[in-house]
Amino acid sequence: MIQKLSQGIFDLNLEHNGMHPVLIWSEQDGATLIDTGMPGSLEVIQESVREAGVAWNDIRRIILTHQDIDHIGSLPAIVASLPSKPEIWAHSGDADVIEGKAPFLKMGADRIATMPEPMRQALEQLSVDLKDIRITRLLEDGEQLPVGGGLRVIYTPGHTPGHICLYVPEEELLLAADQLIVKDGLLTGPNEAFTPDMPLAIKSMSKLTSLAIRRVLCYHGGVYDQQPEEAIEKLAHASN
Ligand SMILES: [Zn+2]
Repeated sequence: MIQKLSQGIFDLNLEHNGMHPVLIWSEQDGATLIDTGMPGSLEVIQESVREAGVAWNDIRRIILTHQDIDHIGSLPAIVASLPSKPEIWAHSGDADVIEGKAPFLKMGADRIATMPEPMRQALEQLSVDLKDIRITRLLEDGEQLPVGGGLRVIYTPGHTPGHICLYVPEEELLLAADQLIVKDGLLTGPNEAFTPDMPLAIKSMSKLTSLAIRRVLCYHGGVYDQQPEEAIEKLAHASN
């Protein structure tokens, strides 16, 4: 079930795999999709957008929080399904991967070898399809985006070189992507197994401590609203 986080902001909550893309809609700016799920998620995302009461063709832009396949997996399919080309925004640190010019950071031959054949094929197809993607705007740390009444980019490298969080000041809402995870009811840092530069990820955590945060939406784990500021403060001071 999708969840309305505030006026015009929806947690798309893909229940089949526990991922949480976000939809932001306003009369003025149209619809913005944040992250696109695994390969093959087009239909379930379309359904969620419909559930939010937003027309699919209203999607004007797609923001990618980072290059991992569970975030960009359905990007080519979503772009192809929209009659007018959406804008595509991401940080330069992951741009080459998103545009199919560089291999996925975390998809070495060893890992791919452990995957079931259909997944391997989907990845291969994705690598081909991403070559047609062109990022239309490179996002920079601290900039205010004309989405949802002002969405602030917070550059949080470590999990990937181009990872970003997005902050909605009016709602004191942090869209944490993979910088934070809700696990067993607790707010934790990024998954170490999939975070190549953990010291940098922890350094990035300290950029979140100056924000007023009432709620966090984690791409993995969903909403966390039990005094997230305290938890983030602790995570920022974790030694590694
Ligand atoms: Zn992820």
